Amino acid sequence: MQEEMRVGIGYDSHPLASERKLILGGVDIPYNMGLLGWSDADVAVHAIIDSLCGAADLGDIGTLFPPEKPEYENISSLLLLTKTAELARAKGFAVANIDVTIMAQAPKLSPFIPEMRKRISQALSIEPNQVTIKATTTNGLGFIGREEGMAAQSVALLQKVEY
Ligand SMILES: [Zn+2]
Repeated sequence: MQEEMRVGIGYDSHPLASERKLILGGVDIPYNMGLLGWSDADVAVHAIIDSLCGAADLGDIGTLFPPEKPEYENISSLLLLTKTAELARAKGFAVANIDVTIMAQAPKLSPFIPEMRKRISQALSIEPNQVTIKATTTNGLGFIGREEGMAAQSVALLQKVEY
């Protein structure tokens, strides 16, 4: 039996604003600013969604979940992630693993990474060890270093399976 594997890449960035909750990887992180967007603006989960879209040939997050639609206002991006995984599964793809890098100057994210892995893997119905997350700063460079925004990159590997 030939096992088909497909890889996808995703990138996202959002501006930081005061009076917004900071939600990263599905976790509510205490901070004096949060990411601005139509949904909860979870930049890490949005990058994961786009990497799944790429690997499963599903278009992109903007075509699957058009911004400005009332049903997506302030929605938890984890729900959008679950929907994306269901669409991939309908095409016969299971998630082999996901690897994410979050780029943020502050706050320190390492204490929150285990909980992010747990919540993302739950949303995808996979194990936490199939979701790896790193956090990095840009050493003060660019819009991320000036704390004007955050960004994330994701790579997803999908495996064709028979259901
Ligand atoms: Zn986004």
